[in-house]
Order: sequence, then C-alpha cells, then structure tokens
Amino acid sequence: MNRTDAEKLVNETCNELSERFAAIDDIALHNQKKVLDAFRKNAVQARHFYGSSGYGYDDAGRETLCAVFADAFGAEKAVVSPLISAGTQALTLMLFGVLRPGDILLSVSGMPYDTLTDVIGGDNCGSLKEFGVEFACIDLVNADGLNPSFDLEKIGKFLDENRVKAVFLGRSRGYEWRNAVSVSQIAQLTDFVKKVSPDTLVLVDNCYGEFVEKTEPTEVGVDLMAGSLIKNAGGGVAPTGGYIAGKSHLVDLVAKRMTAPSLGAEIGSFLGGYLPYYQGIFLAPQAAKNALKSAFLFAGAYKKLGYETLPSAEGDAHDIVTSIKLGSAEKVIAFCEAVQAASPVDSNVVPVPWAMPGYGNDVIMAAGTFVQGSSIELSADSPIREPYVVYVQGGLTLEHAKLALTETLRRQ
Ligand SMILES: *Cc1c(COP(=O)(O)O)cnc(C)c1O
Repeated sequence: MNRTDAEKLVNETCNELSERFAAIDDIALHNQKKVLDAFRKNAVQARHFYGSSGYGYDDAGRETLCAVFADAFGAEKAVVSPLISAGTQALTLMLFGVLRPGDILLSVSGMPYDTLTDVIGGDNCGSLKEFGVEFACIDLVNADGLNPSFDLEKIGKFLDENRVKAVFLGRSRGYEWRNAVSVSQIAQLTDFVKKVSPDTLVLVDNCYGEFVEKTEPTEVGVDLMAGSLIKNAGGGVAPTGGYIAGKSHLVDLVAKRMTAPSLGAEIGSFLGGYLPYYQGIFLAPQAAKNALKSAFLFAGAYKKLGYETLPSAEGDAHDIVTSIKLGSAEKVIAFCEAVQAASPVDSNVVPVPWAMPGYGNDVIMAAGTFVQGSSIELSADSPIREPYVVYVQGGLTLEHAKLALTETLRRQ
C-alpha cells in the first residue's frame, strides 16, 4: 500500500473510533483520580524518591511505594520492587508464596502464560510440581472467540470433588486467540469460588490489565494478583520490577518467600532510588489509555483490510493487546520489522525469530523501546506457529502508534 493510502486508512479508522476513544478517556480520568488519591493518602514526598543501601531497614521510599500501589489497586497490601526481575518472577513469588506440598492449583482460564509452564510443571528446575503441588486446568468456554467465559459448571464440579488450595486465572490473552476476561467476569468467578469452596484462594495474572477498566481484580474479592512494571503499572517510566497485591496476610507470605521467612517485607534496599517507580504509577493510567487507543486503532485498520482482529470496536477491551491473524510467518515477520523500523530506539536493527527462554516456539519480538523489552511501549511479537497471529501492544503516544501503523500498512 502506498503512503497516501496508508495515511488515509489510519485517519479514517481513527475518526470512526471517536466514541470508543471518549470512553477510554473516561476510564483514564477515573483511574488517574484513584492513583492521585493514593499519593495524597500516603503523603508522598521528595524524600521518598531516594534509595537506601544494605538491609534497607526503615526504607521509607520502599514502604510508601508499596502503600501507594496497594491503595491505587484497592488492595490491602502490596509488595513492589525493582528487584523483581519480570512479571514471571512476580507470578512465581505469588504462587510459591501461598502454595504448599500436597496443595492443588487449578487454572480456570486454560493453560497459564507460556513462561509459567516450567514454573508449574517443569522437571529439575524447582517447579511447583517438584515441591509436590498438583496442577489441573479447565479451559475457558468459547475460548476461541470474542467473549470467552469461565466454565462455572466444570469449575464447580472440580471444587466439589477436590480440596483446591488456589484457583488461578490469566486476565490477558497471552498468546491465545481470544479476548481478555473482564473484571466483572473475574468478580462473578470469585463469588462463585468463594460460595462453593470458601477456603480456596483466587490468584490472578494481571499482566496487561492494570488501569484498562475502572476496577482492578483486587477490588472485587480476588486474594492476590501480580504483574510487571515494564507493562501498564510502570507507566512506561519504570525501568524494571514487578508487584504482588492483595490480602494482607497473603502478601506477607509472598514477601517472606521473596526475602526470607524471617524477614518478609522489612528489608530490601535499592540504591538507585524510587523516582521512576513513583512517576511510573502516576503516569500508568495515561499509558494504559494511549495503549488502549493504539490497540483499537491497529485492530480497526487491519479489520478494514479483511483480517480477523481482536478486540473489535464494538466490544470493550480488557487488556491492552491487539491480535491480528495475519496467516503466514512471512507477514508476521514483515509486520514486526515495520514496527521495529518505526521505533525511537534500535530502528536500524531487524528483529528475527529466536528461541527465547521460557517459550516453546521461536518468538519474534519488535521492541525498539527505551526500557529493554518494555511492552507498554509500542511493541509487536508473535510465536512462530499456526495460525500466525501478531500481538501488538503499548504505545506511549497515540501519534507514535499512528506512524508505526502506517509503516506496517506500507509493507503489507
Ligand atoms: C508478560 C506476561 C507475563 C509475564 O511475562 P514477563 O515477560 O516475565 O514479564 C505473564 N502473563 C502474561 C499474560 C503476560 O502478558
């Protein structure tokens, strides 16, 4: 497609999305207030931005940051740390924090995200399986579609017949062909689980979900949720890190797993300081807003070209990701090359599929990002496998998303 046609398609799509964009603005305002209120309640001051060294006893920056995250998420407590290296580690801490030998973990949104496969069932790697935690999995109903939902009948039966310690769900789509599940669905599931089996915990992989809706899973009764700071919750500013938030006594257990059973959240220093983490959570509603608009823009433009895309402009979005079924490895690679070429950093390099740690297939990732691999910044990735879906997410500015979209269209 030539440049003029591509630019025209981008503008047309954008104009058609005006109502959707207004709804997204409304969500962002609501969430900005929540975050601002969390800053005010905890009286954040410049002194909190400085780091500490050694044990980090009484590190007011760390403690206040944790309190701000907890309040912003409507959770009782949170641990947030630059020392949590990725979302996978945050999720691993959440699982190992509360599960014990002999427990059963039940995933109710199909198989968890690819990098959790070894965490749950790997051999000779310190997996939950090796520590005697059993795992079972129930797929979503209508998993292959626009409106996936939890299979309450099967879940209820399983909970009746087994003593399940924790139910686990992934809010975002991962590398599946489906939309994310909504917070209202998570609320309904949580009510159901607590009714059938009051002692069973509900744990959520919240990656890509933060600030996409007006409520977070921890506001609707979920026990714990975890996520990455180089996605939504870091606002495109945090350079690394992760968080776990939820019920106070459970967050304490996670903190004990993170440091040591005798120490919990009472230690932890970070000489680099916390400024980008505070700025990040403050900007996170804005980053989620721009990413959501970018997601609808990519989905809308490719839909006009006849591709199957998720989300669709008619339905709400519950994560920041767009899926485009391109149908061939060549198209996926060309798409990722275009996104990389239209990036502010490393625009001169060409992404290639490779065997990334934690993934079963070769994966191609375009991430010409300031923070390495950040996917709240505009990025595109895909496991090289049928049905050759490219996943696009992030976009710190809508303008950047428009320019990158134009570049991908020019190369189609
Ligand atoms: C990104 C992501 C994770 C964690 O991945 P990391 O790369 O370790 O941060 C887990 N689940 C989902 C759905 C994700 O999108």
